[in-house]
Parts: sequence; C-alpha cells; structure tokens
Amino acid sequence: MALINCPSCSKRISSKAVVCQHCQCVLADMSEEQRLSMQKISKIEQSQKLMNQSMIAMLLFCGGFGFMFWGEPEPTSWQYSLATGSAVIGFAWYILNRARIIWLKRK
Ligand SMILES: [Zn+2]
Repeated sequence: MALINCPSCSKRISSKAVVCQHCQCVLADMSEEQRLSMQKISKIEQSQKLMNQSMIAMLLFCGGFGFMFWGEPEPTSWQYSLATGSAVIGFAWYILNRARIIWLKRK
C-alpha cells in the first residue's frame, strides 16, 4: 500500500482509497489524466491563495510600519503597540507565505 497525495486537497492518502478521507473527493473512477489535471488546478488555487495572503500580510506590514513612521505615536500608547504588532505579524506572515509558495513550487 503506497501513500499518494489527494489530487483535490493534497493531503496524504492511501493509493487504494476510493474516497479521500479528508475532502470526500471520489478517486475510484478517476483516470490518471483527470487526477493530474485536478492536482495541477488545486496547486494553482493553493498558490493563488498564498499570494493573496502575502498581499494582505504586506499591507499589514506597510500599514503598521507607515503609521510608526509618519504617525509618530507615543512609545507608550496603544497605537504604538498596535502598529508594532501589525508590522511584526505582517512581516512574519509574509515571510512564511513566501516560504510556503517556494515549497509548493518545488513539490
Ligand atoms: Zn482530499
């Protein structure tokens, strides 16, 4: 029994599985060709989702950073904490998404 990636959700499933236990996608009567094209589509969708997420992350980072830079909030105010927080989270999220996109492309 080998493990394959589900063409629809990309999770690991048994090659003998009739239905994916994660997304309920029916695999039994699927040709190799259909399987490959589904895999390709789900990969594109995934990378688009990641692209959108990294856009949001970038905006979060720019927003936080921009506010710190131009808004010049007091270091003790909640605005300052909020701006720092969103810049840090946005940056970390962006890096994470870039890494996931690279990883997705190498698969
Ligand atoms: Zn699945």
